[in-house]
Amino acid sequence: MIFFVFLFVVLMDKLIFMLYHIIMKTIISIIPEPQETRVKNGLLLTNNNFSIAADDFFNDYADFLCKELQKCNVKCKINDDSKSKTSTPVQIKLTKTDSNTQTKEIIPESYTLDINDNEILIQAADKAGALFAIQTLKQLILSNEGFLPCLSIKDFPQYKWRGFMLDTSRNYFSIDFIKKVLDLASFHKMNRFHWHLTDDQGWRIHVPEYPLLTEIGSIRDAHTMPLMKDYYCDFKKKLPYYYTDEEITEIVKYAEKLNITIIPELELTGHVSALLASYPEFGCTGGPYKVENRWGIFNDVLCIGNENLPKIYQACLRTVVRLFPGQWIHIGGDECPSVRWRTCPKCQALKAKLNLTTERQLQSWLTKEISEYVVSLGKTPIGWDEVLDNTEIIPLPKDTVVQSWRKKGGGKKAVSLKHFAIMSPVNKCYLNFKNYDSFEEPGRLSFTTTKTAYGFTPAGKDFSQEDKKYMLGAECNLWTEDLNASKVAEYMMFPRFCALSESMWLDADKKDFARFKQSLEAHKLRLDFMDVNYYKGKLGGD
Ligand SMILES: [Zn+2]
Repeated sequence: MIFFVFLFVVLMDKLIFMLYHIIMKTIISIIPEPQETRVKNGLLLTNNNFSIAADDFFNDYADFLCKELQKCNVKCKINDDSKSKTSTPVQIKLTKTDSNTQTKEIIPESYTLDINDNEILIQAADKAGALFAIQTLKQLILSNEGFLPCLSIKDFPQYKWRGFMLDTSRNYFSIDFIKKVLDLASFHKMNRFHWHLTDDQGWRIHVPEYPLLTEIGSIRDAHTMPLMKDYYCDFKKKLPYYYTDEEITEIVKYAEKLNITIIPELELTGHVSALLASYPEFGCTGGPYKVENRWGIFNDVLCIGNENLPKIYQACLRTVVRLFPGQWIHIGGDECPSVRWRTCPKCQALKAKLNLTTERQLQSWLTKEISEYVVSLGKTPIGWDEVLDNTEIIPLPKDTVVQSWRKKGGGKKAVSLKHFAIMSPVNKCYLNFKNYDSFEEPGRLSFTTTKTAYGFTPAGKDFSQEDKKYMLGAECNLWTEDLNASKVAEYMMFPRFCALSESMWLDADKKDFARFKQSLEAHKLRLDFMDVNYYKGKLGGD
């Protein structure tokens, strides 16, 4: 009898232990899923009150990290040494190299997070690692009222480049909304913001030498569809619609604190209707041109044979360098028709001078010229994968990074030619596609379910080890045709943004869509807390 009672007690104990861990795993539900999570026994009562003590290395950053925690409606102080101390200690230490342990090589942006029943310990490789540990902690705080599960997390990114692109040409978004999206990107451990500043429908950055770019180029015909401004919280802003130097500097500083590098993009070659409307002399026909109200690909592009062309693109690039401290500048290069070059005497003269065999090779020449100028300014150019086309005579300069959007082909070609590459395949990463194949859903062109987005891997099994050295990572892209409000933009982004953040952060072998779906249920409450509008329908595969 005693034996059976003993057996019963042991079995119950094991059952309770198993149930505890299953429940804890559900409570934890971090997105992107950390590389390693170990649930420990016990809970940490926090009183929703924290005190951060950080190594000297984080001295000038601890205050910011504290403010990040406060965004969860909790108290936080730096080095709280009050006598009636009721705060939960959070220690942040810099990861040290140790020849005796596994920390011989420290992975940038990595961190460990240990929650014990009396304290929280963070070890971070750098400021980004400390921030990501805090972002993980924030997710836990938002899912647990006044307590945290004891656990041990070891985390690091699979890819260096984890970005998102916002098109602010087709729809002008307020800087408040851009800050909100930067917060959400950091919450999902992204580190790049690709800011699409110019296109056919609007030029959004002031260039002192060419003031008409914004005076004319940022304004579409009034009161015609589509709307060009976001009504998020920007009623007072007057035309024209561009970002002033002060606003850009404010965004750059905001992103810097969040360890997000901004990649400004100027569309050069095609998608330049706004530029041509401002300065018609840079088109092959001389115009007149207008800032486009329509979507699509337009035949009027830069006149590559115009000998004054370098003056305008160099002035634009110098402005970008002055305002954006990041290493990369995106120079566009996608969807550029060559029809005007066929009949333009200046373009034909240049074609003959360069001994080119087709008009399309003129774009390769201009890409080379612009890339070399960007490099001369100490920066690294990025182009859409069309920059690899028609390069038989004039190859793409080695320094130019290729962003592959036309499915996977461009990325594979780029890395095989030893160009660094960023993946944004249209069928997986374009957030302007509908969330689901339904007539009722907003979005355009096609649809990508959350499951499809989750299944994306920047460099999958078809990439060799050598290829993978050149694969920087990925970006999800929000083109904003037909999106006339930031709430609609959010709806298109989430939850696919969450799925793609995991595709960029986590080793593909560790991904599990069933687990992600479960985590998303907890995560939706966090998105609610952050006032994010998200799609609530089918995620695909059901
Ligand atoms: Zn021309």
